[in-house]
Amino acid sequence: MNAEIIAVGTELLLGEILNTNAQFLSQNLSNLGIDVYFQTVVGDNPKRLKETFETALTRADIIILTGGLGPTKDDLTKETVAQTMGLTLELHTESLQKIKVFFSSIHREMTINNEKQAYLPKGCMALENHHGTAPGCLIEHQQKVVVMLPGPPQEMKPMFTKYVYPYLRSKGTNIIYSRVLRIFGVGESALEEMLSDIMENQHNPTIAPYAKQGEVALRITAKCESEETAKKMIAPLEKTIRQRLGFNVYGEGNTPLAEVVGSLLKEKGKTVAVAESCTGGLLSEQITRSPGISKCFITGAITYSNESKIKLLNVSPQTLDKYGAVSEQTALEMAEGVKRLGGTDIGISITGIAGPDGGTQEKPVGCIYIGVVTNDKSTCKKINLVGDRLKIRNMTAMHALDMIRHLIVEHVSEKK
Ligand code: AMP
Ligand code: MG
Repeated sequence: MNAEIIAVGTELLLGEILNTNAQFLSQNLSNLGIDVYFQTVVGDNPKRLKETFETALTRADIIILTGGLGPTKDDLTKETVAQTMGLTLELHTESLQKIKVFFSSIHREMTINNEKQAYLPKGCMALENHHGTAPGCLIEHQQKVVVMLPGPPQEMKPMFTKYVYPYLRSKGTNIIYSRVLRIFGVGESALEEMLSDIMENQHNPTIAPYAKQGEVALRITAKCESEETAKKMIAPLEKTIRQRLGFNVYGEGNTPLAEVVGSLLKEKGKTVAVAESCTGGLLSEQITRSPGISKCFITGAITYSNESKIKLLNVSPQTLDKYGAVSEQTALEMAEGVKRLGGTDIGISITGIAGPDGGTQEKPVGCIYIGVVTNDKSTCKKINLVGDRLKIRNMTAMHALDMIRHLIVEHVSEKK
C-alpha cells in the first residue's frame, strides 16, 4: 500500500506555517509500513486542489488530506474532494449536535457557517474531533481510502492516532519498527566502514546511519507483522553493532548526550564543577537540563578573561604567561581550581578558540583543551574542530560531556 499526503492551506505556501502535519503523518505511515511516495501542498484554491487530488487518485492507494475543514469560505477540502469523487455532502446530525454543545459550553452563539462543518461525504466514516469543532472523515471508495483531517495539529494528531492509525493498522500486514542507536566519537564514514559487511548484506532489518551535529544516529529498522517480532529481529543485529562500536554507543532513541550524562551523574552520585572559557556556560547549561541534577552539579564558573581564571580558579599567572590561556596547563589548572571551589568529585574545564578570529598557526580556530580532574587522576584532551563559532562551541560541549561519561563509566567498571 502506498500513500500520498496533501496539506491544504495558502498559509503553508506563503511560508507562514511549517507543514508539520506532513511530517507527523509520514512518520506514522512509515511505522505502519505504508510507503509515502508524495507529499503535496496546495493553497485554498478549489481548482488546484481538485487537480492535486485527481493526480493523487491516479497514483496512491491512500490519500490523506489535512486542512480546509473549517467553517469559513476558504475551507473547501470536503466540498472539492466529494465533488471530485462524485459524492454528495450530507448533514451528519451527530456532528452538528457536538458543534452545538461545544458552542454552548463556551457560552457563545453558534454562527450559521459553523453548520457547514457538520456536512460530510455520503457513506463516509465520521471521525470525531475531541479537540475542536470540525469532524474529519474517512471514505472507502473504488479501492481507494481517502481521509480528511483538520488542519490544526492539536486536532489532527489525536484524531489520526485514535481513529486512522488503528484503521490502517487493521488493513495492513506489516509494520515498520525502528530503534535508533546514538553514537559519539565516530564519524559517519568511519561508522560505515566499521559496519560495511552488515550494510552491504542488509535486507531486513536494515540499518541506516545519519549524521547529526557532532554525532551519528544509526537507525535499525525491521519490517514485519508485529512490534514484538521486530524487536526479536533487531536484537541480535543490535548486539553485533554494539560489540563493534563499543563505548561509542552512548544511548538510544531521542535521549541526548547531556541527558545521558545527567542520569549517570545522578545514578552514581558523583558531583561535578565546571569551568568554562570559550563555551561561555554552554556545558553547565547542558548538564543542568537534567531535572534533579542539583545534587550533582555544584558550581560553574565562566572565566573568559585571564584575570577571572586567576581570581576565581587560582590559575597561576606564570602558567598563563608561559603556555597561554589556551593550553593543556591552563585547562588542568582551571579544572583543579573549579574542583577545589566546588569541593566536587570531578572538575572539568574548557579553554579554546571558537573563532572566527583569534587563531594562530600553532593554535588555530577550533583548537580546544578540555581538562578533567578527579581525586585520583588528571587528564587533558586536545581536540581540533572545524566549523563556525556556533558549531565549535556545541561540539566542544559534547566532547566535554563525553569525557564525563567516560570517566564515570570507566571508574565504575574499574571498581567492579
Ligand atoms: P485550516 O483547518 O486549514 O483552517 O487550518 C487551521 C490552522 O491549522 C492553520 O492556520 C495552521 O495554523 C494549522 N495548520 C493547517 N495545516 C497545517 C499543516 N499542514 N501543518 C501544520 N499546521 C497546519
Ligand atoms: Mg485553511
